[in-house]
This record gives sequence, C-alpha cells and structure tokens, in this order.
Amino acid sequence: MSTIVERYKKINSNIATIKPEQKVNIIAVSKTFPLVHIKPLIDHGHIHFGENKVQEAKTKWTIIKNENKNLKLHMIGKLQSNKAKDAVKLFDYIHSLDSQKLADALAKHQISLNKSLNYFIQVNIGNEIQKSGIPVGELDPFYNYCKNEINLNIIGLMVIPPNDNNPEKYFKSLNELNKSLALLDLSMGMSADYMEAIRNGATFIRVGSSIFGERS
Ligand SMILES: *Cc1c(COP(=O)(O)O)cnc(C)c1O
Repeated sequence: MSTIVERYKKINSNIATIKPEQKVNIIAVSKTFPLVHIKPLIDHGHIHFGENKVQEAKTKWTIIKNENKNLKLHMIGKLQSNKAKDAVKLFDYIHSLDSQKLADALAKHQISLNKSLNYFIQVNIGNEIQKSGIPVGELDPFYNYCKNEINLNIIGLMVIPPNDNNPEKYFKSLNELNKSLALLDLSMGMSADYMEAIRNGATFIRVGSSIFGERS
C-alpha cells in the first residue's frame, strides 16, 4: 500500500479518536503534487480534494473529474474575480470568498453556467493587514448580502489563523461567529493544527503535507 494512503488512514483514525460523533471531512490538499501522487487516494475512495490555483487545478483535474463524477474539488487559495468563471466551472466548493467584487462575479457566472457551488466566507480573524478575508466587523452585512441579494449558498466560515502559535483562540472565535450566523460547516485546521480545529467544531479540515509529504 502506498504511504500516502497510510498517512491518510492515520489522520482518519486520529479524527475518530477525538470526535467519533462529529462528521469531519478531510480535504486532501494536493497543490503542487502531480496526479500520480493523488490517484492512489482517489482509488482508495477519497472524494474531497483541495487546490489553491485555478490554472493548476484546471490542468490537473478537468479530465479526472469528468471520469469520476463523485469527486469534490475545493478552491482554498486566493481567488481573483477575473478567474471566477473558470472557478465556477471546475470547483464544487470555494473557501476563499473574501470580497463583494468576487462574490458578484461568482454569482454572475453561476447564473450563466447554471451551476450552484457551496461557499465558505474567509474571515480575517486576526485583522491582519497582509491577509485576505472579511474583517469580523463586516461579516454580518457581507453574509446577508451574499445570501439574500445574490443567492450564494454560504455553508460556513473559513479561517487561516495568524501565525502566533495559538490557533485555538482563533478557532474558538470562528466557531462562535459561525454559530451566531447559524451556519453548520466550518473550514479550519491544517496539518499542524487539525486536531485543535476539530475539537473546536471544524467540519472540513484542509490537510496537505501530512498526507502528500512536504512541498518543495
Ligand atoms: C496549503 C494549504 C493548506 C494545507 O497546508 P498543510 O500545512 O500542508 O496541511 C491548507 N489551507 C490552505 C488555505 C492552504 O493554502
């Protein structure tokens, strides 16, 4: 058996030990890795995969997704609105919804392509100037706009916490915000901190290097 599948199984069993009652979806983040590394996981029956660049995802996933209709592809990286059309065509979930301009572009292309995706609003929880995401203070109106004005199917919030070795407090805040909006899904946790994320309510964890190995 390939080590990729073994590592994946290990993560699954870690999840089961801490939250047997909670449904946690692993998004296998395959950015930078070629399809030969990904194929064993698909053959193993895994369905959620994450990429952070539209062009790379298009090249890697267009054919294999057509051959495997059950696969779900997640856009987890910064998305420019001029790539919104390609993103709507290819992806099933977008985790990086972070501006009204992008939301409007996605809504427009959903209509023209007759497709409806699932969205997470990315929250800039630490109010870091260099980081994308909706500031906490603007979250309510942005959520209402996306949901009620342009009909995006917002299923939860997403966070990349500040790099200060204390992700837990940010996970807790995001969970509170998610509850305040009565949202059911929560995208948080990466290789280094997915256990803490799950303890704080994550339903989608985004795991790359712990499955595929270090990226060069
Ligand atoms: C690359 C990436 C991940 C996965 O990171 P690992 O540390 O390799 O698990 C998760 N989320 C986002 C937004 C990423 O860009």
